[in-house]
Amino acid sequence: MTAASTQERLAALQKEIVRRNPAQPEFHQAASEVLQSLEPVLTARPELAEAALIERLLEPERQVVFRVSWQDDEGRARVNRGFRVEFNSAPGPYKGGLRFHPSVNLSVVKFLGFEQIFKNALTGLGVGGGKGGSDFDPRGRSDAEVMRFCQAFTTELYRHIGAGTDVPAGDIGVGSREIGFLFGQYRRITNRWEAGVLTGKGTGWGGSQGRTQATGYGNVLFLAEMLRRRGQDLAGRQALVSGSGNVAIYTVEKLHELGARALTVSDSAGYVVDEKGIDLELLKQIKEVERGRVRDYAERRGASAVYVPGGSVWEVPADVALPSATQNELNVADALTLVRGGVQAVSEGANMPVTPEAVRILRDAGVAYGPGKAANAGGVAVSALEMRQNSGRETWPRERVENELASVMRDIHEVCWQTAERYGTPGDYVTGANVAGFERVTEAMLAQGLL
Ligand code: NDP
Repeated sequence: MTAASTQERLAALQKEIVRRNPAQPEFHQAASEVLQSLEPVLTARPELAEAALIERLLEPERQVVFRVSWQDDEGRARVNRGFRVEFNSAPGPYKGGLRFHPSVNLSVVKFLGFEQIFKNALTGLGVGGGKGGSDFDPRGRSDAEVMRFCQAFTTELYRHIGAGTDVPAGDIGVGSREIGFLFGQYRRITNRWEAGVLTGKGTGWGGSQGRTQATGYGNVLFLAEMLRRRGQDLAGRQALVSGSGNVAIYTVEKLHELGARALTVSDSAGYVVDEKGIDLELLKQIKEVERGRVRDYAERRGASAVYVPGGSVWEVPADVALPSATQNELNVADALTLVRGGVQAVSEGANMPVTPEAVRILRDAGVAYGPGKAANAGGVAVSALEMRQNSGRETWPRERVENELASVMRDIHEVCWQTAERYGTPGDYVTGANVAGFERVTEAMLAQGLL
């Protein structure tokens, strides 16, 4: 195939995705980003364009949409929609988190599941891609309501998952509390103590040390590696972090450990800028213990912190930025502001937080840009290590997990770097991540025949 005919085929495929998956803009966006990277690899390796491999990659192996009915504290019946999209299991069991947020719909779950295929392949730890969740909003719900919702959700989900089939974990709105409720109901229904069916469990009952920290830590390690390639160091840098959940908190922790200063955190209502650097103990107390808001942080922190309702953290000048909240949270205007403020690197803790046009602006300005499917793969990597521990009934010390995480993140950086060089786009981590992930998954699919 020539480059021109490959381009034509990819353009036709993009149109076909929009036609076959109407009203799924997030999925179109994620698919389009990958397809735009594939021309060089398909031209050089035409066997990876055969047997409808790309078409198969774009079509989930299975999509489950189900009703979740549960009772609130007033005794009223409530109904939500549950999803599990099992995208690709050629490299290993489906693996990917569950998101509980009112914005969850099939498009969001499919974009996340599609990204997960490539991310999981990059870890090299033998996991396929999937994702799930519900439009249930846990915010403002009591523990008892969250428990009843999780139990109702698992009453349908349990039949689709299993340690060798599909292994969910957390994501937005799903942390260790929810994983506990999901696991409890799975155990109750199946009468099996099957640790490997979910990851992100408590460390006292099958969870891995270091899983809570893994995504944030991994992203900072990836960022440090990008800077190192440019002859730069993270120490002494000012950093912007968005979000204030699991990923954001441990991003701040690792930034501080490596000598950088995190200036901001945010939530959907506003952001905090703290010129002395975010006080991690206070942030953890408010977010993890009290389930409070970043506004509370500013009120208790004293003079160094200012709360800005609305707006976005990208207004604050800094050296590096780590978006860690949600998809499309950093747009063209934000990218231009960041570039004007002298940002040198952007590394994605969240999935697809930077819009495609904003990515173009950052890259044109020479900013190092680490896409989420590479930069935030630390979470799923440690989840895969949790599965290993579960299958051998082992408990690894924290130090071992952290060493493995550091080594996986270095390897991911290296494979993205090398792949980008091999296909003539040096320093382009988007091509590197998409092509390396694509090669690994399609090679596995090709070897396993048409299914
Ligand atoms: P959490 O639920 O712990 O935290 C999410 C944070 O993002 C909250 O501060 C939340 O604010 C904010 N947020 C969510 N939606 C929006 C929105 N629409 N607008 C503004 N702020 C928003 O989730 P995680 O930290 O686990 O996940 C954050 C991101 O990281 C997601 O994109 C997720 O897919 C990705 N990720 C997570 C992994 C993990 O291991 N947990 C692994 C890899 C990627 P508020 O409370 O106001 O909603």
